[in-house]
Amino acid sequence: MASSVETTVRGPDAYSLSRRVIDEMEAAGVWPTPLNFELWLHYLGDPESALGREIQRLLSTKEPFTEATADMLAAEYLPRGRLTEEIRDAGLVLDRELSSVAEAISRAHKSQSAYGQTLDKAATSIETAGDGAALKSIVGSLTTATRRVQRENETLEKRLDASTREVSRLREHLEQVRRDAMTDALTNLANRKAFDEHLAAACEQAGDGAPPILAVLDVDHFKRFNDTWGHQTGDQVLRYVASVIGRFGAPPRVAARYGGEEFAIIFPQEDSRQVATALEAIRKEIGSRSLRRRSTNDDLGAVTVSAGFAVRRPGESASALLERADAALYASKRAGRNRVTASESLEQAAA
Ligand code: GH3
Ligand code: MG
Ligand code: MG
Repeated sequence: MASSVETTVRGPDAYSLSRRVIDEMEAAGVWPTPLNFELWLHYLGDPESALGREIQRLLSTKEPFTEATADMLAAEYLPRGRLTEEIRDAGLVLDRELSSVAEAISRAHKSQSAYGQTLDKAATSIETAGDGAALKSIVGSLTTATRRVQRENETLEKRLDASTREVSRLREHLEQVRRDAMTDALTNLANRKAFDEHLAAACEQAGDGAPPILAVLDVDHFKRFNDTWGHQTGDQVLRYVASVIGRFGAPPRVAARYGGEEFAIIFPQEDSRQVATALEAIRKEIGSRSLRRRSTNDDLGAVTVSAGFAVRRPGESASALLERADAALYASKRAGRNRVTASESLEQAAA
């Protein structure tokens, strides 16, 4: 997808596509921010792509297209493009460093071999040298050659020092890029991509020990909350909910923002009882606090969350586990929300 858009924006249709992007964004009431423009460019460049279909779905809900939504879409569908740029830049710097080090080494190598030749010649000359004056001149040329090599070595050392510093700066930068690509911008929790990786790893590592448990949490009636108080206030509430979930989901647990107002926690090494206790504590803490809007101090009341969890069965795939945790969450919703349901209890009821 990205590459076809890359080609289009450098081809004969570039300007007509860009004009259409602006027109369509205006028609949909979407601000022409650089990120929105980029998203729309990809969407109209390939409406049938995953991003294209997701934007069409979002537009059909008539919800305002917020910055948070744009960030989520970018994290989900554009990360590779952004990442590639960062990695390419880092690669260029690395390339430059390596060639300048290689040059310094080759220079040092040349002067070392010239020095070797000088030594050889000196050895022969010393054998045949008759008087003191001849010896003095040999020693003189040896001293000059030695100094040159010393200077060359010093330069090489400095160059290597600078390169080592640059490379470690680069490594830190790439580490930051990697962290950003795995973090949800609104809440600072792990994002969907990071969550998927963690869940896959937890399922893979589940050996003889306790099986991992997956919990999913969803804010109750959040659409109504947004409709009443607006998306921005909704975002603040998501940050608050995320802060509680993040606190309870500290390592070795993994807390993530899984979707818009949906969160997940992986419990890699606890039993059902401990997980139920933690989820109850989260549910109670979130629901017990009366929220206030920061800008106007309006009383927003409390928001509640529903949760569901499932214990991984031997050999179960991450997606099957997620499906069972989701079914437990929806049982909580059906039963009246603001509660926690174990997948096990549904399975027992069905048996
Ligand atoms: P339920 O109790 O059944 O979960 O009802 P709900 O209204 O929470 O669920 P629904 O799936 O109908 O609506 C979810 C809403 O969450 C839709 C959207 O307005 C809101 N939402 C999703 N992502 C964001 C976001 O990033 N910011 C804000 N402010 N709202 C969001
Ligand atoms: Mg909800
Ligand atoms: Mg939801």
